[in-house]
Amino acid sequence: MQENIIIAGQHTSGQPTASWQQQLSRAIRDPAVLCQRLGLSDQWLAGADAGHQLFEICVPEAYLARIPPNAPDDPLLRQVLPLGDETLTQPGYVTDPLEEADHQPVKGLIHKYANRVLLIASPACAINCRYCFRRHFPYSESSPSRSQWHAALDYLQADNTIQEAILSGGDPLAASDRQLAWLVEQLDTIVHLKRLRIHTRLPVVIPDRVDNALLDWLSNTRLQKVVVLHINHPNEIDQAVVDACARLKQVGVTLLNQSVLLRGINDNVSTLAALSERLFDAGVLPYYLHVVDPVQGAAHFDVPDSEAKTLVSQLLEHLPGFLMPRLVREVPGRASKTPL
Ligand code: SF4
Repeated sequence: MQENIIIAGQHTSGQPTASWQQQLSRAIRDPAVLCQRLGLSDQWLAGADAGHQLFEICVPEAYLARIPPNAPDDPLLRQVLPLGDETLTQPGYVTDPLEEADHQPVKGLIHKYANRVLLIASPACAINCRYCFRRHFPYSESSPSRSQWHAALDYLQADNTIQEAILSGGDPLAASDRQLAWLVEQLDTIVHLKRLRIHTRLPVVIPDRVDNALLDWLSNTRLQKVVVLHINHPNEIDQAVVDACARLKQVGVTLLNQSVLLRGINDNVSTLAALSERLFDAGVLPYYLHVVDPVQGAAHFDVPDSEAKTLVSQLLEHLPGFLMPRLVREVPGRASKTPL
């Protein structure tokens, strides 16, 4: 491991913080506590309770600290606070919008695109985003066991067209470093694999997740490493997130970001431009801007295609080309994301 890695788990004051596991176990999972902590009136609690019954809330303290009190429209709060709108059913909004259940040749492994497969490395997330396209995913059936991993690894070994393994979830970094180190060691032995990609929101919502144990196994793999973060608003990038990104870059990780275009959260040019600038300041390149997948309970976040395209064409006037995310939709059955 490199010696000049910034030490995770210490604030600039020198005070040790709780481990990421402790922070995760202490995340707020009660709508009443969330409303009380942020000074929200009872009018918000009824909707929060109703949405929580469908997809439970989960908000770690490190994320809560970026949300001001008494601000029900705050763009970070809106990502985690359920509204009564989640209980409405809308035509075309379904429980498995990407039809992932049809692409699992082995439990816990999704093979939709050529040359790459997705492994559900952990069923858990460190935050429950209200617009999540996997909010109805049967994670308990995909929770990985060693025997499942062996079946997935056999599948990868047998198909020499696969060049990239993508760890996804849930959030793959919610798994223990012991499990992840073992899995990546196995992937290392598959000679046709070139890249390891990790899709995660954990370094954003609990930046202390990027600790020395994580950096150890990332340093040890022969695979090229790409971490795709998930950040939707510039306010999500505080100094702790910037430091976590720096630690990942120190072990040779390429950092990209994908966002979701969300009504009332980032659906304006100034926010999207500020997000790209702030990402680049943190050493992260914007990658995708997804339109909301039509998942049941998330219709109120949708931005119509015509509006999304107008926003992106206006954004072009504010950013250099390399800071422009690609506006895309995922369409079931297509061999790639679909640019809009
Ligand atoms: S972190 Fe990702 S997978 Fe987890 S709830 Fe949020 S969007 Fe969904």
